[in-house]
Amino acid sequence: MSISLKKSTHPVRLTQAVRDTIKGTVADDPVAKQYLPQDAESFIHPLERRDPIGDDVHTPVKGIVHRYPDRVLFKVASACAVYCRYCFRKEMIGPGTKGLLQDEINAALQYIRSHKDIWEVILTGGDPLVLSPRQLSAVIDNLCAIPHVQVVRIHTRVPVADPQRITEELCAALKRDKAVYVAIHINHAQEITDDVRRALKNLHAAGCVLLSQSVLLKGVNDNTAALEDLFRQLTALRVKPYYLHHPDFAPGTSHFRGSIKRGQQIMRELLGRLSGIAQPTYMLDIPGGFGKVPLTPQYLNEIEDGLYMAEDYQGCKHHYPPKE
Ligand SMILES: *Cc1c(COP(=O)(O)O)cnc(C)c1O
Ligand code: SF4
Repeated sequence: MSISLKKSTHPVRLTQAVRDTIKGTVADDPVAKQYLPQDAESFIHPLERRDPIGDDVHTPVKGIVHRYPDRVLFKVASACAVYCRYCFRKEMIGPGTKGLLQDEINAALQYIRSHKDIWEVILTGGDPLVLSPRQLSAVIDNLCAIPHVQVVRIHTRVPVADPQRITEELCAALKRDKAVYVAIHINHAQEITDDVRRALKNLHAAGCVLLSQSVLLKGVNDNTAALEDLFRQLTALRVKPYYLHHPDFAPGTSHFRGSIKRGQQIMRELLGRLSGIAQPTYMLDIPGGFGKVPLTPQYLNEIEDGLYMAEDYQGCKHHYPPKE
């Protein structure tokens, strides 16, 4: 396997709120590892690429990714409050990239308006919550005025990385008659502080439905106890664990990628041990733009036509339909 070396261009940015949650060094701390560069980042795996999940091939107008018929990504910001080392869009975001100009925002909105199949718009980036409440409110006003858009979803790390930004003004901008979902990016229970709890509470009080998305990161959260703790705490904070992503082939991230087998083993261990409402779906984004697929371990095998063997959470096997 050939390995090339590159000096990382991915910016380093942490907020004070994040610094306060770091208890060790980049060698041993689950939060530090997410934000501080390690030497391993300079190794570029031959399969790693600038656009790991194939956004470009599904971009009809700047800022829109239309891969599935009923929903689009709308990349409204190209900056983030913090920069994650494992980011799957690390080559497309950051201080050196340009956000959308007003004309480009208008063209993206026009695309959504003219495609009646678009039922849900997912604001992403970068991080949509780095926009000012006024800017964000204007985008959401436009989306809510489109009759076929029934759901607005925001993917963000801000409630965790910069909870001070979840102000009354921002919450007011998110309070809508149409459903607003907020999918919060968080990877470890150590990231949940009192300020984060308050931010989540305020988002919930504004009527947002809260989901979480996490990335399975080697050395950060690739163990059952850490994820169990995270998903329990989130669920108790009214955040429904939604996706646990297998890391993508972004340049310089191989030290974060474990095996799918290990991820499935963790998912098996969580089943039964952790409430069903606290279980996320383990997901893979197929490289090249083919969409996401669940990596749920198999619990049911067909042994004959219509006859199955089901494995329970303790590993015992049972016939389905039952024998007598
Ligand atoms: C991930 C993604 C979505 C959202 O997928 P869900 O399974 O609905 O969460 C939508 N569009 C694109 C292009 C995506 O990459
Ligand atoms: S917040 Fe999201 S988009 Fe921004 S660097 Fe982290 S993973 Fe990437």
